[in-house]
Amino acid sequence: MRIQEFICEIEKWAPSSQAEEFDNVGLIVGNLNTIISGAIISLDTTEEIIDEAIQKKCNLIISFHPIIFSGLKKITSFSYVQKTVLKAIQNNICIYAIHTSLDNHNKGVNFKISERLKLKNSKILIPNKENDQIGMGRIGELTEVMEEKKFLKFIKTRMKTNTIRHSKLLNKKIKRVAVLGGSGSFAIKNAIDQDADAFITADLKYHNFFESNKQIVLIDIGHYESEQFTKNLIHDYLRKKFPNFAIILASTNTNPVNYF
Ligand SMILES: [Zn+2]
Repeated sequence: MRIQEFICEIEKWAPSSQAEEFDNVGLIVGNLNTIISGAIISLDTTEEIIDEAIQKKCNLIISFHPIIFSGLKKITSFSYVQKTVLKAIQNNICIYAIHTSLDNHNKGVNFKISERLKLKNSKILIPNKENDQIGMGRIGELTEVMEEKKFLKFIKTRMKTNTIRHSKLLNKKIKRVAVLGGSGSFAIKNAIDQDADAFITADLKYHNFFESNKQIVLIDIGHYESEQFTKNLIHDYLRKKFPNFAIILASTNTNPVNYF
């Protein structure tokens, strides 16, 4: 099968037309006519992922995050992005990125998070202005009302994360929860306006935590941690579409953040 046919199926599911304008999705490295030997799914493209692709005889990496985001003027070994792209080209590895096509998907990144947290009646937090079936984040209700500390423990278990940063607890029960995988500080106001008791996201800065304004508990679970199940989402879809084709979930953990 050629990459073009493969991409056609991905496009039917998560069209690049629904990605954000700032994004860089689609085929990032490679030739549409390349015959695929196997596809490996990862959250990020790194040199280690390329090594894993080579070892597992996959010449296509389906990456959630795009390795090239704002353009490259040189492809040398100067930065990790250049090194990774160079290594992919030298080894005939193609790279396809999905990113915000799946962030904005009704059953995408944030649906997966709401599923992990067993949220009921969940809907899109920030619907797209032209198409309200797609959009950023999700909001829904827990199956049972929880004390704040119990809720934090619940997140740790369900989202497989040991470290959580959060704003001051408000001594209120948690019922309504907003989520946005990845960098979600831009949606704090949306979560408050829609009466969420808690907002789970990542990459919150010091001053963002003040924005809770004693109205909501802001919870930063880590960027990688918030999006880690996206790999499974992509994998499950592609395995169903191509049951007889080698589609592998990468085993390399690409999280660049370490905890001590
Ligand atoms: Zn992300």
